[in-house]
Amino acid sequence: MDCLFCKIINKEVPSNIVYEDDRFVAFKDIDPKAPLHLLIIPKKHIASIDHVEVEDKTLMGELILVAQKIAREKSLKGYKLLINVGREGGQIIDHLHLHLLSGRPTELP
Ligand code: 5GP
Ligand code: ZN
Repeated sequence: MDCLFCKIINKEVPSNIVYEDDRFVAFKDIDPKAPLHLLIIPKKHIASIDHVEVEDKTLMGELILVAQKIAREKSLKGYKLLINVGREGGQIIDHLHLHLLSGRPTELP
């Protein structure tokens, strides 16, 4: 499968990884829209929110908890979480990702 984010998970494409566990990876966005702009992704390839199945509901909850964990580790005072869905929703990469932005976003990704 030719998926950029799967290649980042497999370390076939370099990235600046800030968090990793057995189910998720978080790394810095290559084109940051805020002083802190991370992408948190499940290691399971899910194309978008529109492709999430009932069996993924625990994973989706854990995705939010990973964001909270990173925010706590970095002592963030506030942050935004964003998921784009589909081309019309601004999604460019077809591997589900949660944007974590903190510190005055210049624009929404
Ligand atoms: P989307 O628009 O799909 O919600 O967000 C995709 C994000 O991936 C964009 O913010 C974009 O800057 C980021 N991105 C695209 N290609 C790469 C890459 O090769 N490495 C990293 N770290 N981020 C990327
Ligand atoms: Zn993928």
